[in-house]
Amino acid sequence: MIIARKRRIGIFGGTFDPIHVGHLVAAVNARVAADLDELLLVVSNSPWQKEGSRAITPAEMRFLLVKDAVLGVDGLSASDIEILRGGSSFTIDTVEELNEADPEVEVVLVVGADAAAGLATWHRYEELAKRVELVVVNRPGAFVEPATLSDWNVSFVEVPSLAVSSTEIRQRVADGRPLDFLVSRHTIEFIASNHLYR
Ligand code: ATP
Ligand code: MG
Repeated sequence: MIIARKRRIGIFGGTFDPIHVGHLVAAVNARVAADLDELLLVVSNSPWQKEGSRAITPAEMRFLLVKDAVLGVDGLSASDIEILRGGSSFTIDTVEELNEADPEVEVVLVVGADAAAGLATWHRYEELAKRVELVVVNRPGAFVEPATLSDWNVSFVEVPSLAVSSTEIRQRVADGRPLDFLVSRHTIEFIASNHLYR
């Protein structure tokens, strides 16, 4: 008898303002290590926890760059599910939407260690913890105490440590320092021609 394995879909959410090599290296490695059929890079519409602190690039532009970055990368895709839904982006809503589309799918939430440390502040986090498997990837400068994740079905995936953030990319643009190899050439050109982060 063949027992069909359930489809495992990962969601790796972020503002991606802009997407950088740290996101991509974490994503490809988490996908393979967690045995995911597909990992969706879910571009947040309105990052409610960041609202008010700085100007955020329009969601469509952030999505365009994520889409371009994962083009042709096995098992990775860009998702605009939260942009299409509109309003504040809550991961629990995205998980429910994926489960409605396919009740048999297993949803795996992939986060960096900094995001993992803040999970208890997420909207309806107790329900989220019951519905997903959690995968935490390491990130330089971030640490999450495993004991604080006892509500979750959690595993840790070791990825190459890359001390890069979107904040650092934006600062580099403002300072006129190079972005080469931290983001794609297309991203560099897109930032320049749209006058982003100045
Ligand atoms: P910002 O500086 O604007 O917060 P960011 O680089 O942290 O940007 P986000 O869009 O906030 O990027 O993060 C999306 C997800 O990617 C989060 O789960 C975060 O932990 C993870 N992530 C971002 N950069 C890295 C990295 N260098 N290594 C591992 N994970 C990362
Ligand atoms: Mg961040």
